[in-house]
Amino acid sequence: MRKVTNYQIKINIMNVAALDIVVHKTNESRIGQLDHSNIQFGKVYSDHMLVATYENGEWQHAEIKPYENLSLSPATTFMHYGQAIFEGIKAYKDPQGNPIIFRPRDNWKRFNRSAERMAMPAVPEELFLGGLKQLVDLDRDWIPTSDDTSLYIRPFMVAVDEFIGVRPAEKFLFMIITSPAGPYYSKPVSIYVHDEYVRAFPGGIGFTKAAGNYGMSMYPTQKVKEMGYDQILWTDGYEHKYVQEIGTMNVFFVLGDKVVTPDIKQDTILQGVTRDSVITLLREKGVTVEERPLSIDEIQAAYHAGQLREAFGTGTAASIAPISALTYQNEKMTLPPVEEWENAQWLKKELAAIRYGRKTDTHNWILHV
Ligand SMILES: *Cc1c(COP(=O)(O)O)cnc(C)c1O
Repeated sequence: MRKVTNYQIKINIMNVAALDIVVHKTNESRIGQLDHSNIQFGKVYSDHMLVATYENGEWQHAEIKPYENLSLSPATTFMHYGQAIFEGIKAYKDPQGNPIIFRPRDNWKRFNRSAERMAMPAVPEELFLGGLKQLVDLDRDWIPTSDDTSLYIRPFMVAVDEFIGVRPAEKFLFMIITSPAGPYYSKPVSIYVHDEYVRAFPGGIGFTKAAGNYGMSMYPTQKVKEMGYDQILWTDGYEHKYVQEIGTMNVFFVLGDKVVTPDIKQDTILQGVTRDSVITLLREKGVTVEERPLSIDEIQAAYHAGQLREAFGTGTAASIAPISALTYQNEKMTLPPVEEWENAQWLKKELAAIRYGRKTDTHNWILHV
């Protein structure tokens, strides 16, 4: 029996009356050093960052200042116990050259769900979205404009009590840094379906972007890379049978003429913003999308019946990442050539058109800076 926990998290946003974000601009911009022809993911950071401190029960000292190293005590809580969460968002330039941000409000809400589960304070809208907007505006020249590029935005929060006892902290840092980003995966990914290591289980933290979810994935991922695969397709923690996510992406399968993706009811799966966008766009197009438990046996049966048409991951970093093959136990299931896929190709173009502001934003997904 699969147990359903369905963790319900309320978001309590306290009212922060006057949280002014102080801006200190750099005198020494590094923008001249950015090589637009060779932008790699997460290697270079823009001129400024946002830092806010939570202390004595409230957010204070919010500041945008030159990007610099932090100075922290070795006893800082999060370094020991992982009370740390993050988000991933992207900014683009529209055809007029104005910065636009894709669905950041959804990331803000998810950030606060992660915060609550990790016993951390909620970050108010003025700080998260207001700060984000000001930071992107200030560093707008860091948004690259060639195909498949963007400014990756990384908000995060860490517990910073100087105390190595195990208890929820009282002092936190909320920060936002940004980094020009190029394409994430350049070719279709080869996937290993894991039926030994697990990522998430009901009652756990699978639905959060908490640091621990990524730390624990390093070893199994390293192992499958050594075996020649790019990423893991995680299965559920009880039966190792129901598929969950690939690496740090949600996963979709086209079985016959239906699109199927695992449902998020058990809180074991990250509620991806790209996942939601993909479901919305496909349904509007008239495609049947099913959100439900999906077993590897069903995928394998579809493959044998010639019905496994497409399989792809979705996420902010990679957008749509086609899967070239899935290996489960002793069988390698090879997908048809990506050029023949209808849905993934269409979604990639459609999402790009919305994200780069080339198409009317009928869903209110774009935040204009
Ligand atoms: C971030 C993330 C995703 C994708 O979420 P998006 O909001 O689409 O970027 C999926 N799974 C995991 C585990 C993630 O960390």
